[in-house]
Amino acid sequence: MSRPRVVVAGLGDSGLLTAIHLARHLDVVGVSSKPELVSGQELGMRLTRPDYWAKDYRVSFDRYRRLDRVRRIHGTLTGLDPDAKTVAVELRDGTSHTEPYDVLVISTGVMNGFWRRPTLQTSEEIAADLRAAHERLVAADSVIVVGGGAAAVNSAANLAATWPGKRIDVYFPGERAVVNHHPRVWRRVQQRLTDLGVGLHPGHRAVIPDGFGCDRMTDDPVHWSTGQPPATADAVLWTVGRVRPNTGWLPEELLDEVGFVRVTPELQVPGRPEVFAIGDVAATDLLRTSARNRADRLLARNIRAHLAGRALRPYEPPRGRWGSVLGVQDDGLEVFAPTGQAFRFPRWSVDVVLRDLIVKRGIYKGVRR
Ligand SMILES: Cc1cc2nc3c(=O)[nH]c(=O)nc-3n(C[C@H](O)[C@H](O)[C@H](O)COP(=O)(O)OP(=O)(O)OC[C@H]3O[C@@H](n4cnc5c(N)ncnc54)[C@H](O)[C@@H]3O)c2cc1C
Repeated sequence: MSRPRVVVAGLGDSGLLTAIHLARHLDVVGVSSKPELVSGQELGMRLTRPDYWAKDYRVSFDRYRRLDRVRRIHGTLTGLDPDAKTVAVELRDGTSHTEPYDVLVISTGVMNGFWRRPTLQTSEEIAADLRAAHERLVAADSVIVVGGGAAAVNSAANLAATWPGKRIDVYFPGERAVVNHHPRVWRRVQQRLTDLGVGLHPGHRAVIPDGFGCDRMTDDPVHWSTGQPPATADAVLWTVGRVRPNTGWLPEELLDEVGFVRVTPELQVPGRPEVFAIGDVAATDLLRTSARNRADRLLARNIRAHLAGRALRPYEPPRGRWGSVLGVQDDGLEVFAPTGQAFRFPRWSVDVVLRDLIVKRGIYKGVRR
């Protein structure tokens, strides 16, 4: 008897992990616009130390042992027919392919700035993009980072730590940055940024020029709707959190009013129990936290329970945002709990314990060198 087929739509951070959990039990097909994992995490490290970043965040699918059993389709999802239970995929040669499913996982994530784009790309095109962004910053003597989220402060800290000779300034609208984290996190991050010589400019709300999607670095003066004189730098990095869900390929009835996929606490699409969603595209809670809170394990269990007629379990989002903010630095990795408390992993332990044992073996169940 053939095994039920699960189509995982989008093999980013969450889709990849979900496919890994299900591969031994079900017939899994993964559809991805990239031929490898290209994570949206750790923007600062990606821009300043792209080769080091790539060790963990840009990984060929062939290296994941558990993906050996997953059939992969390199293409762009263009449509879903929920009654026929099929997805349509446009392949690189322009032809169209229809893939049937018993269960569908929607994990197509969001677009954000220039570093998270759903475009169909080869490995060479991805490498060229990464290199171009790095070289743009190498050539700049001064950089303005616009925005106050984790991507902004992460970028500013990494730029200042990697290139102490450059002038780095971060401008954000509120009194403090990282407002979705516990206030203690900002106190700690502010201290680190000040120690690194980053200029902090609270109370600055940037005017986003008409028609500009914040999807590339610029070098024009930045104007402020909060009244301050314009600011200039050789490169302006727009990290303003203007995320847009990659859901243009889905019927509107599946989406909420801002275009994210509606889900029940069990991560099922209401009225379509065989369709699940996870990650940044899934409207689980206000901060859409199911990727960072590793709901992939719960989702895999729920899919198997659904197919076996067993009860499903709910996803319970934590109250506050947690995790690393500045990423790996020379003195190690600092991770914040939802209470704002900081835990530090010493630098020596990051590569050996965190990367090799916990991440590669524990989380991904084996990654080839
Ligand atoms: C292990 C782990 C640790 C994390 N730690 C942190 C942390 O410390 N701090 C923090 O803030 N966050 C953390 N996160 C979360 C992270 O910031 C994001 O939330 C996460 O990268 C989002 O994953 P995603 O799968 O939803 O989206 P993505 O990784 O963006 O994946 C979506 C994929 O779908 C593809 N796609 C989109 N549209 C289409 C289409 N039409 N056709 C084909 N493919 C398409 C995209 O190209 C992409 O490959 C963590 C996540 C994980 C898994």
